[in-house]
Amino acid sequence: MRLKIAVLAGDGIGPEVTHQATNILRAVAELGGHEFTFVEGLIGGTAITKTGSPLPTATLDAALECDAVLLGAVGDNKFNALPPDKRPEAGLLQIRQALGGFANLRPSIAYTALSESSPLRPEVTKDVDILFVRELLGGLYFGAPRWWDRESNEAINTMRYTRDEIVRVARVAFELASNRRQKVTSVDKANVLEVSQLWRATVTEVAKDYPSVTLEHQLVDSMAMHIMNIPRNFDVVLTENLFGDILSDEAGVITGSLGMLPSATIGGAVNLYEPVHGSAPDIAGTGKANPLGAILTAAMVLRHSANLEQDAKAVEAAVNKVLNAGYRTADIARGQQPGQTPVSTQEMGKLVHQALAESIDRRQAMHAV
Ligand code: NAD
Repeated sequence: MRLKIAVLAGDGIGPEVTHQATNILRAVAELGGHEFTFVEGLIGGTAITKTGSPLPTATLDAALECDAVLLGAVGDNKFNALPPDKRPEAGLLQIRQALGGFANLRPSIAYTALSESSPLRPEVTKDVDILFVRELLGGLYFGAPRWWDRESNEAINTMRYTRDEIVRVARVAFELASNRRQKVTSVDKANVLEVSQLWRATVTEVAKDYPSVTLEHQLVDSMAMHIMNIPRNFDVVLTENLFGDILSDEAGVITGSLGMLPSATIGGAVNLYEPVHGSAPDIAGTGKANPLGAILTAAMVLRHSANLEQDAKAVEAAVNKVLNAGYRTADIARGQQPGQTPVSTQEMGKLVHQALAESIDRRQAMHAV
């Protein structure tokens, strides 16, 4: 298997965590006999300092020639005085738009070893494994007209979707559910919004092509409660842009730390993979950053761009094993609990690497028998 990956590490903790993620991808390539090539590019504050632009043309051109883009994080307080379109974050928005992915995938998984890190009770989070599929290019964030008239103190945004936009993201959700627990929960506000009525009718129609997948509809307000009360009832959750933005952040608390959350944006010219967290300037350079969100993002690269499901699962299992063994970066440590070993970003990366190598070795030994 050959894969060319653009690595845009960015700012703050971005390079620290991305380094651990690429180490894991290199290990998978080496252990499995794959050829992964990494092409480094500048983005964010680092790119502004070196080139004057948060997304240099060279970065975008290189990204568009790759099979996948792995991004760290952008954002640096020293650029806070710049206008929004010149700041590091503009680079992120520009690359997301240029790559054109319309389906944002965000897993929300409860790790048994971290059940104490979530504000929810362990009996509520037990066995939770939700995959959000959020439509990313439509809805209120992009609909026209949009304006703020400062004279009349009136402002408007438009929630707009076409049938085709709904069909393509719904298909992603049903395909993914087909390989999981065969359930799609579609979220809308069909009791009030016409856009949601179109959303519901269209998703219902798409569901007919996936008879093995159960479809349920939830209103967004009740869904916000269900995620906190009975999160294990959900498998794939399909949402429009704004609802998905809010609900996937809400579900993030199930896992217990921002540093644990991966994401992928698929369906465009090149898939874009990034941990959910930002550049965390408060801990950059201290070795405190949790690299597991970035490493789990690398697992998503394997799953969605390389079709290496077994290896993706092996990376996820390695993360689980290291957590079960009690290793903790600062964000997931719970005081001085017995059985827990505090580790740095680099140590955590190495431990996952070791666990992964052991499991791939075992798998190869079994095949050889
Ligand atoms: P943040 O995600 O960077 O940090 C929020 C809090 O979580 C901080 O206390 C931080 O230390 C902690 N944290 C985040 N990731 C962690 C990790 N991997 N391990 C341990 N702790 C972690 O959000 P913020 O502080 O609101 O923003 C900081 C900068 O990042 C800003 O410039 C913002 O614009 C940018 N940002 C970028 C992205 C992105 O690149 N996708 C996302 C969000 C924010």
